[in-house]
Amino acid sequence: MSATAINVKNLTKTYGEGSGRFTALRGVSVKAELGESLAIVGKSGSGKSTLMHVMALLDEPSGGKVTVMGQRATGLRSAELNALRNETFGFVFQQFFLIPGASVLENVMLPLTIAGVSGRERRRRAMETLEQLEIADKASNRATDLSGGQKQRVAIARALVNGPSVIFADEPTGNLDSATGEVVEDILFTLNRDKAITLVIVTHDQTLAARCDRRVYLKDGLVVTPKELTS
Ligand code: ADP
Ligand code: MG
Repeated sequence: MSATAINVKNLTKTYGEGSGRFTALRGVSVKAELGESLAIVGKSGSGKSTLMHVMALLDEPSGGKVTVMGQRATGLRSAELNALRNETFGFVFQQFFLIPGASVLENVMLPLTIAGVSGRERRRRAMETLEQLEIADKASNRATDLSGGQKQRVAIARALVNGPSVIFADEPTGNLDSATGEVVEDILFTLNRDKAITLVIVTHDQTLAARCDRRVYLKDGLVVTPKELTS
C-alpha cells in the first residue's frame, strides 16, 4: 500500500488587498504519494508555483488543509513548521537561489547548519553529497563562478544533504540548455528511482511532465483535465 507524502485539500490562496486582490488558487486538492514523481503542469500564471509553495510549507494558504507525512501542517507554530519543512523537503528552483558570495561547500552545508548539525559532521555530509553529484572538485569555488548546469547540481546537492523524503523542483531546467537540462532531469529521476525520493516537479515543459509517474494540470487556479488545459 502506498502512503501519502503530501495531501492538500480545497486550497485557496488570495494575494493582495482591495482592487489588487488576486485569487491564485480557487479550491485545489492534490496528493503526492510517497515514492512517486508528480508533475504540476500549466501555463505561466496558472498557479503552479503558488501551489508548490503551499504544498512545501513555504507559504500559508488562505483556506484549505495541508497534511505532510500524516501530520496536519495547517495551524502548526512557525518553529514546528520550519522544522518539518527542513527535515522533510529539499528544494530546487529555476533561479538556483545559491548564496552568491559563499562557496559551493557552504551552500550545501546550509540546511545542516539550520538543522543544528555540528561543524565537522556538516562538512563530511556536504562533501559526501557533492561527491555523489560528481561536483566535489568545485567545493571551494564560489557558487557564482559555475555554469548553469553546475549551479543546478549544487542546488540538488543542497536539496539532498538533509536526506529529504520529498524534493520540490520549480522549473528545474528552465534556465538550462536542453542537453544540460536533460542531465539535471536524469539526476532527479535517478534519486527518485534509487532512493525513493518523492519528486514534485513544477513545469510547463510537456516532455519533462511526460517523464513523471503522474501529472496534475492547473488552469486559472483550478485542477483541470488535460483536455480542458488546452481548450
Ligand atoms: P505559475 O507558477 O503557474 O506561473 P504563480 O503561482 O506564480 O503561477 O502565480 C499565479 C498567479 O498569482 C499569477 O497571476 C501571479 O501574478 C499571481 N501572484 C503570484 N504571486 C503573487 C504575489 N506575491 N502577489 C500578487 N500576485 C501574485
Ligand atoms: Mg511559477
